[in-house]
Amino acid sequence: SDVGSQKERVVTEEEWLQKWEMGNIGFHKEQGHPLLQKYLDVLLNGRSGLRIFFPLCGKAVEMKWLADMGHSVVGVEVSEQAVKDFFSEHSLPYCEEPVPEISGAKMFQSTSGNISLYCCSIYDLSSLIVGKFDGVWDRGALVAVNPCDRQRYANLMINLVEKNSSYLLVTVSYDPNKHKGPPFYVPESEIKSLFG
Ligand code: SAH
Repeated sequence: SDVGSQKERVVTEEEWLQKWEMGNIGFHKEQGHPLLQKYLDVLLNGRSGLRIFFPLCGKAVEMKWLADMGHSVVGVEVSEQAVKDFFSEHSLPYCEEPVPEISGAKMFQSTSGNISLYCCSIYDLSSLIVGKFDGVWDRGALVAVNPCDRQRYANLMINLVEKNSSYLLVTVSYDPNKHKGPPFYVPESEIKSLFG
């Protein structure tokens, strides 16, 4: 697990916005993730009407799935284009409003009220602003966070979850000397030390 080659790498918010502008979004999966289907029961644990958080959400179609099952979905994404694409690609009417606590941030909410997407950096959020969550779908999120920000990210996520919550995390396993990422390689040992 030599991750030395990725430790110093930084992808700026500007670079992420550019990826969206250029349509350079190979990470987006039109079909949704098979592992969410597989582990849905673990996430829900027999509960209904949950609050589910999608960190670094992009326009993940799984947000629609979970909302359609009756859960309340909250996401955060720096790209306004991604957020608007999400609603328009699912033909969901929405309204947008400023977030008083975060300068420059906007919140886009489906008219039905069950999907709220914050357009800002995840590091601007706190449980005072978005509340706490019963479940997290972390796919393309921890692995997209710059390696130097992982501890900060994990601390924030721990702050955002209820005591009885489930956190599904998807990582990718590969030789970090062969690709620069993202997605970055996050060794199992690091996940254990980040989340305890
Ligand atoms: N989870 C999504 C997207 C993964 S790609 C999916 O499964 O498809 C990572 C996303 O995080 C990109 O859309 C990028 O624009 C966004 N992003 C990167 N840094 C961010 C930050 N600090 N705060 C919020 N979003 C961020």
